[in-house]
Amino acid sequence: MTRDRIRVAVFGAAGRMGATVCRAVLDAPDMELVAVVDPPHEGRPLDDFGVAGTGLTLQMLGPAVKKAEPSVAVDFTTVDAARGNLRWCALNGVHAVCGTTGLTSGDHQDLSALFDGERANAVVAPNFAIGAVLMMQLAAIAAPWFESAEIIELHHDNKVDAPSGTALLTAQRIAETSTEWTPDPTRTSAVEGARGGEGPAGIRIHSVRLRGLVAHQEVLLGTTGQSLTIRHDSYDRTSFMPGVLLAVREVANRPGVTLGLDTLLGF
Ligand code: NAD
Repeated sequence: MTRDRIRVAVFGAAGRMGATVCRAVLDAPDMELVAVVDPPHEGRPLDDFGVAGTGLTLQMLGPAVKKAEPSVAVDFTTVDAARGNLRWCALNGVHAVCGTTGLTSGDHQDLSALFDGERANAVVAPNFAIGAVLMMQLAAIAAPWFESAEIIELHHDNKVDAPSGTALLTAQRIAETSTEWTPDPTRTSAVEGARGGEGPAGIRIHSVRLRGLVAHQEVLLGTTGQSLTIRHDSYDRTSFMPGVLLAVREVANRPGVTLGLDTLLGF
């Protein structure tokens, strides 16, 4: 018996992540790329963005996309675009996999109301790299044994939001493990922002933007006489694809909104 292939639409298909997702979907034997959405590039062939031979043209989100009958849409766009795109998915009964970063906890609440598990579900993850999910998990396990924590996230020089969603989520998870984090000793700063931004429980987050990088993060944990550094590096956008494809395969089975990849990985 042959299984129906999962019909996938990609939102932001002309972008760096979107084009990589298109290639991953095309390479997945159980998936079919049925629509590509990217309004700023409407009417241009997907071939122009390094994804050859599909015959697909970039389009606006609307009836034509619905007509292509996607069962899952993958969104890697901008935070403003993602809010509208996700709403469209919920109202049109299309499951959503969203990797766009910058969504707030208020957005997550709105999504829970939209994706009620009846018509459509959503998986929203600020980081689809399985190694990064493990980094957060390991940091949360280690954190109760330390008194100070700082996070350094390093990304390419086109990233428009800071800190990264992963850094913020890591800080939240570390903060939840203890109430006894050492206060910041800084009394004077010659350069504003030298101590980074203040995240949950006062945990400092430092955002580096550097040409040549992709996505990297270090979690520094310190206690008397010792420190532990947990580091993850995504060297290439393909690092996110196993996680994205896992979410595409799983989203139909996860009622409502799933935040992060953890539960999909069995944590
Ligand atoms: P990019 O700028 O290369 O691509 C964004 C694309 O979205 C562009 O082609 C743009 O034209 C398109 N777009 C804008 N408005 C749109 C709309 N309304 N509908 C559809 N498409 C629209 O950016 P990128 O590097 O591909 O990153 C995209 C997002 O993914 C960012 O938020 C980034 O932080 C995030 N990201 C997440 C992960 C993860 O694992 N979750 C990994 C890498 C990047």
